Amino acid sequence: MNIAGKRISILGAVRSGVAAAKLAAELNAVPFVSDSAPAEKLEKYTRELEDAGIEFETDEHTERVFYCDFIVTSPGVPSDSYPLKIARERKIKVVSELEFASWFCKGKVIAITGTNGKTTTTTLCAHTLNNAGLKTYLAGNIGTAFSETALEVKEDEFVALEVSSFQLDYIRNFKPFVSVILNVTPDHLNRYENSFQKYIDAKIKITKNQDSNDYLIVNADDENLSNIVTDAQQYAFSISKDVWRGAYFENNALYFKDAEHPQKVCDRSELSLKGEHNVANALAVLTVAKLLTVDDSSICQSFNSFKGVEHRLEFVRELEGVRFVNDSKATNVDSVWYALRSFERPLRLILGGKDKGNDYSRIDEPVKKSVKKIYAIGSSANKVYEHFKNIVDVEIDDSLEAAVTAAFKDADKGDVVLLSPACASFDMFDNYEHRGKVFKEIVENL
Ligand code: ADP
Repeated sequence: MNIAGKRISILGAVRSGVAAAKLAAELNAVPFVSDSAPAEKLEKYTRELEDAGIEFETDEHTERVFYCDFIVTSPGVPSDSYPLKIARERKIKVVSELEFASWFCKGKVIAITGTNGKTTTTTLCAHTLNNAGLKTYLAGNIGTAFSETALEVKEDEFVALEVSSFQLDYIRNFKPFVSVILNVTPDHLNRYENSFQKYIDAKIKITKNQDSNDYLIVNADDENLSNIVTDAQQYAFSISKDVWRGAYFENNALYFKDAEHPQKVCDRSELSLKGEHNVANALAVLTVAKLLTVDDSSICQSFNSFKGVEHRLEFVRELEGVRFVNDSKATNVDSVWYALRSFERPLRLILGGKDKGNDYSRIDEPVKKSVKKIYAIGSSANKVYEHFKNIVDVEIDDSLEAAVTAAFKDADKGDVVLLSPACASFDMFDNYEHRGKVFKEIVENL
């Protein structure tokens, strides 16, 4: 793909937009970056653009956006935003940053999507393949944008790519060698006209350009993902049943089956990650690794040595027999459901924040079973209180610090204080990383 001399407007002046602009500049195109956020919020990024000699505008999207050959949009820009509406009206081609970067990547892409587990699975995948000697870059909706690595990847190398549904909204030719769909549960529905089906369809797009030389790996336990139509070779993974081909969990072990003969690859006890959901994530990676002919002992070793990812069921500290676990990335109810099922010890759960229309009844059962008390925080504290007051002991705390202190004071030896909020963090923090870091500081200072 030759883009030299093309005028490219890039929507969004944060990480992926800036990376796309720099990639375009490197390929001798003429990028122009536009963001409607105020200049002072974008300083860190606009400085990078200035240093690279790339033109940009902030505070609003002007007409200049539309003087271009095509538009590259960042995942944070909603489809109903002004510039995307105008682009549709004027029939200007729009592609996502992921699509754009993929034009210039010579290596093989392993694209991983799903509502929950993307970062964990993508990171575990890169770890497992790298340990097996297959050079694999880690990119996407994670620390490094795809546009930052695309040119580096050589033909015989891989990219483990975390892909959000927003990135899939504007793909055209994006064609992963391996696609993985981990699960789909209702989240981000505001971006999909409140239609769950539209959200599912967005995720399934990951396979739309794949052909019979490619692979699609799907969670067989997720009924929303049955009957996907694809030209790729389909494999499945399951924590609850045997699969036609792919990976499954039985007798506390992880198996792989291609054609007839199942083989045990490793025992659950060899996984460093806790929780049933992480068995599912590991099965997805196991399938990728087996398709790339990684040997079993190398897979087991990698599963064993994987340190996990910060803010996902991250063990922080044990103090006077009380353990503290940071699961700040649990920003929806489904991830909390899995978190609650990951512990054998009694839990003191810190829940709440910016609610995205949560239905808390999904976690009534595991709360009844494992939670001694809920400490409700943030703008959803009252909703949490009202929902759980007849199920379990609940108190409202006016800060995360108050919640942690109260939970520690109440805790008995052997309890776990778990921050797994089921909500976004923006009512009290900059983002979930900030919330997790503050939690860890409070815990370290106890
Ligand atoms: P994502 O990148 O999709 O947000 P993460 O790996 O960052 O996923 O995990 C987000 C939250 O979801 C964490 O609380 C984590 O413990 C939980 N989680 C991880 N894998 C799964 C899964 N397969 N199903 C449900 N929840 C999961």
